[in-house]
Amino acid sequence: MCVVVAGPCGMSALWNFADIDGGNEVDVTCYERQSTWGGLWNYSWRTGTDEYGEPCQAGMYKHLWSNGPKECIEFPDYTFQKHLGKAIPLFSPRPVLLDYLEGHWKLKEGLSKCIKFNTVVRHVQYNEAGDTFTLESTNLAANTSSTEKFDYVIVAVGIFNTPHIPGFLGIETFEGRKLHAHNFRDAVEFKGQRLLIICVSYSAEDLALQCLKYGASSVICTWRTKPMGFKWPKGIEEKPLIQKFTGKKAHFKDGTTEEIDVVILCTGYLYSFPFMEDGLRLKSSLSMFPANLYKGSVWLGGGNNKLFYMGTQDQYYTFTMFDVQALWICKYILGKIPNESKSLKEMKESAEKWVKECSKLKNCHDDIDFQTEFIKDLSEDTGFSPDAIKARDLLYTWEHNKDENIATYRDQCFSSIFTGTKSPKHTATWMQAFNDSISAFAKVAEEKSHSQKCS
Ligand code: NAP
Repeated sequence: MCVVVAGPCGMSALWNFADIDGGNEVDVTCYERQSTWGGLWNYSWRTGTDEYGEPCQAGMYKHLWSNGPKECIEFPDYTFQKHLGKAIPLFSPRPVLLDYLEGHWKLKEGLSKCIKFNTVVRHVQYNEAGDTFTLESTNLAANTSSTEKFDYVIVAVGIFNTPHIPGFLGIETFEGRKLHAHNFRDAVEFKGQRLLIICVSYSAEDLALQCLKYGASSVICTWRTKPMGFKWPKGIEEKPLIQKFTGKKAHFKDGTTEEIDVVILCTGYLYSFPFMEDGLRLKSSLSMFPANLYKGSVWLGGGNNKLFYMGTQDQYYTFTMFDVQALWICKYILGKIPNESKSLKEMKESAEKWVKECSKLKNCHDDIDFQTEFIKDLSEDTGFSPDAIKARDLLYTWEHNKDENIATYRDQCFSSIFTGTKSPKHTATWMQAFNDSISAFAKVAEEKSHSQKCS
């Protein structure tokens, strides 16, 4: 069995294999291009290519805090409270999240031993005759290639690693810096600058706030389909889609123009699995349920139901979704899902039904409900915590809080679904919190719980 990459999805697969059978039934090898686990949660100053000339896959930035409440993504058996020994504020900076993930992974001793680090997968091909997959890889550090055979392959590279960079009239001669969000590293760089953010989804919303927080002089977000419509703090505004650039000027669809210094494209990501042979390659745009995947996981286009894709759905539940999906895949492979002996026709019908439902989704609440059903379906098959889907209500509240005030939604407190403990308030508002380190964050929680006990 092979897992392609050791990010949150792939690590969930390794974790669940180790959990289900004590690591005895299946021999697992994981290939990871980076020198460590964690996928996009690893911050690197690099953009473009890495030290080996390979494309940098993680579009992580220095001061990122989660944009969703941690209560909606925590592992049922390993809460944030269990990890840090105390309740911590609702939204967490990147180092806290990575530390939490690592805490979970380290519960299974020796998980890293089955990971081939610094090794990039070049090609995966299915062999009809032997009912196996041939996988070609390169060890980047040693600059050597190898070929191995596997019975099962889990592709867990995620869907946010290859930036989508459309063209805009005049952008090539725009007299300022232009970059995709994937290459955004540090908001401090944009202090005093006038920014134009193209598009209005999660990256746009987060980078706009982040840059304002770190001193950008103004931010315009330009929308194609509809504006985000949040009550923005002073300094951020929305305008209809950019039509062209001339010199330093941006011309908008409503006839207005603005002088700007920097253009940041937040135009999303392309599904990219270049290492998969044609018939095995998932092709999709961003979707809550890409086609051709039984239970959102088993590839139905070839590979005899022994090829799996993880985390290819747009995400609300993120880590929880990866975890239940990983558990489902592990149990499926081990034949431990009750009544799971569907014909290819039945699997295709099931996948089509989900895709059809997905096509009816109209707003974020529909999306949340849909993903809740997905988690519920996989949970019922596997015995995953039925409480996980209680995150639905928190996600609704989170959306509501964002609508109320996009600048303060990270300052709200929820209770953990699994412990019932309410997260303490951070001592500073997100807009005023400039220390993202684990120690600072944990200390805040400590001081808070002390003062709460004293009051
Ligand atoms: P996204 O959600 O896929 O949004 C892409 C945007 O690009 C959409 O608004 C789309 O507009 C627009 N677009 C695409 N092509 C365009 C074109 N040719 N012209 C104009 N507009 C175009 O991507 P994302 O915002 O980068 O988010 C990706 C993931 O990263 C999400 O899961 C998000 O939660 C995560 N993220 C997390 C954080 C955090 O935790 N702090 C921060 C940033 C991102 P239409 O709506 O018009 O199609």
